[in-house]
Amino acid sequence: MKILVINCGSSSLKYQLFDMDTENVLAKGLVERIGIEGSQMKHVKTGAEPYTVVTPIKDHKVAMNLVLEALLDKDHGVVKSLDEISAAGHRIVSGGDYFKKSVIVTDEVMDAIKKCIPLAPLHNPGHIMGIEAIQHALPKMPNVVVFDTAFHQTMPDYAYMYGVPYEFYEKNRIRRYGAHGTSHHFVSLRAAEFLGKSSKGLKMVTCHLGNGSSISAVKYGKCIDTSMGLTPLAGVLMGTRTGDMDPAIVPFIQKVTNYTADEMNDFMNKKSGLLGVSGVSSDLRDVEEAADKGNERAKLAINILEYGIAKYIGAYTVAMGGLDVIVFTAGIGENSATTRAGVCKQLEFMGVKIDPEKNNIRGKEAIVSADDSKVTVVVIPTNEELMIARDTKRLTA
Ligand code: AMP
Repeated sequence: MKILVINCGSSSLKYQLFDMDTENVLAKGLVERIGIEGSQMKHVKTGAEPYTVVTPIKDHKVAMNLVLEALLDKDHGVVKSLDEISAAGHRIVSGGDYFKKSVIVTDEVMDAIKKCIPLAPLHNPGHIMGIEAIQHALPKMPNVVVFDTAFHQTMPDYAYMYGVPYEFYEKNRIRRYGAHGTSHHFVSLRAAEFLGKSSKGLKMVTCHLGNGSSISAVKYGKCIDTSMGLTPLAGVLMGTRTGDMDPAIVPFIQKVTNYTADEMNDFMNKKSGLLGVSGVSSDLRDVEEAADKGNERAKLAINILEYGIAKYIGAYTVAMGGLDVIVFTAGIGENSATTRAGVCKQLEFMGVKIDPEKNNIRGKEAIVSADDSKVTVVVIPTNEELMIARDTKRLTA
């Protein structure tokens, strides 16, 4: 069974074709700058050289046709007929509180995804275009949608509600939705499997630390709290996002800068975080390098990040009434041994003990805590695409 996983943005289309008998990726690629000058498709058949097509791509339908042609191509392709592709699975950033799990696409499902556009204005319109494009090209093939928000739908109301007047929840759906749910779900299941246990018996904190970062409390396999909120701006310090701050800072900065609401949003999402504090870069590798050379603001940015992550782990230990496993994943979590060590050092009083030698790894599954640590600390590379492919198979096989 072959499943095509699609992640569409407003001007991009990422894809991976999985052979679900082996869970191997047969081919993957990226169409960029859809509808903009300089559009191109980069396609890679596993084990072969990349194949690039530079051509005007006016919309997602043209992009999807290019992808399907590449998958069929006699030199670069991996299927003889498009009938070999059983279904497509689509990543959807926001399903609001309409979707608690992945579902097969119907007209009603499309309407609900459209209703969630105000919650993900930069993402959901692109996802919709991607679904419509493949429905147009392959009208008989089933499509499944997998939501970044779905895994967090098990949070209790006191964790997802904010202290604003209740009518803003009723009328405007203001509440915590969280993000990266597919990643938190995948790593929580995989970490348990890797440790030879069931996630239903574990209290875990999963730390997805990348350009965007979020932390979740996963108690007995269910998410009970997560650090991102109505939008992905909340939580720990990120590459260019502020993370949590006193909400009164917003009107304060608007008054001193005359920023409009949109400009303020841009400032908090794109100019803050590691970049804004360090003045060096949004990329932790650059910030770590500057800190090593003695840059005080770079050191401060790293300290804010590690302290913030440790505080969330402490808070979620309270939320779960204990802690068995800490999972690190995504660009920073998988690769930065110093971040993992810096966070865990602050949790030593809880019996968290890192083994520096075991922690000296990058991008692979490993236990990085000491044998006598009360809490097991693991690195689990995330694989959101595989999670989407598995859900798609489960719902369509
Ligand atoms: P992601 O959004 O998951 O792709 O993660 C991207 C982030 O991972 C980048 O901002 C980098 O700062 C970070 N990253 C990747 N590799 C390393 C590394 N070797 N050391 C520290 N940070 C890293």
